[in-house]
Amino acid sequence: MIRVEHLSKHFGNLQVLKDINVEIKRGEVISIIGPSGTGKSTFLRCLNLLDHPCGGRIEIDGVDILASKAEVPALRRRMGMVFQSFNLFAHLTVLENLCIGPIRLLGRPVADAADKGMELLRMVGLAEKGQQFPDQLSGGQKQRVAIARCLSMEPKIILFDEPTSALDPTMVSEVLGVIRRLARQGMTMAIVTHEMEFARDVSTRVLYMDEGLIYEEGPPEQIFEHPMRERTRDFIGKVR
Ligand code: ADP
Ligand code: MG
Repeated sequence: MIRVEHLSKHFGNLQVLKDINVEIKRGEVISIIGPSGTGKSTFLRCLNLLDHPCGGRIEIDGVDILASKAEVPALRRRMGMVFQSFNLFAHLTVLENLCIGPIRLLGRPVADAADKGMELLRMVGLAEKGQQFPDQLSGGQKQRVAIARCLSMEPKIILFDEPTSALDPTMVSEVLGVIRRLARQGMTMAIVTHEMEFARDVSTRVLYMDEGLIYEEGPPEQIFEHPMRERTRDFIGKVR
């Protein structure tokens, strides 16, 4: 589904991504871990072109998205992104937040978008919140709405950038629960997270990022129990 080759990105003199190579297959759940400042967010932002890479290649479903003729809006539509900071539309109700994309960007009839929106709200356990405004919700509820809004656009893959880092500990599990359910349903996802236990039991593969590289990758048991390289061992030792 996604193939990244020799991806690089610098900001001025700061080389953040040096040489990223990775493939993500349909149905995989990839956790991306590593110290802060190692370019995890930059990597996700490059994947959907919120940041423009300086070099390398990104192929999505066989299409080179850095080629000048690539359809960036169509590409973004296939990739959902969920941020640490929710980014809901404050002036719209919860249900309107879920309908606006399908209506404006996918051309769905209003009634269909509303039905689908309600279905998604049920799925994230917020069926009774459709008429409220985002600032009437808790952080965990806002993030569940943000995930539902992302799903309303029918993405093929969802990129999560620390979806629980802004939440009180009591709200983390309700958000992780929704992501777990998506994983069971076979959604392809890449998740930057500091929740190691979650990464361990939900991921099919873990990428440890350091030094501008995917420094080590493997199945969760390998990365968490038997990391092979020194910096991975240090990091896992500290976060455990
Ligand atoms: P992580 O998500 O792993 O914590 P980031 O991708 O956010 O790391 O950042 C990697 C490095 O790139 C950091 O040193 C950060 O300060 C820098 N950086 C990120 N975005 C920008 C930007 N738009 N301009 C300049 N520097 C940036
Ligand atoms: Mg980050």
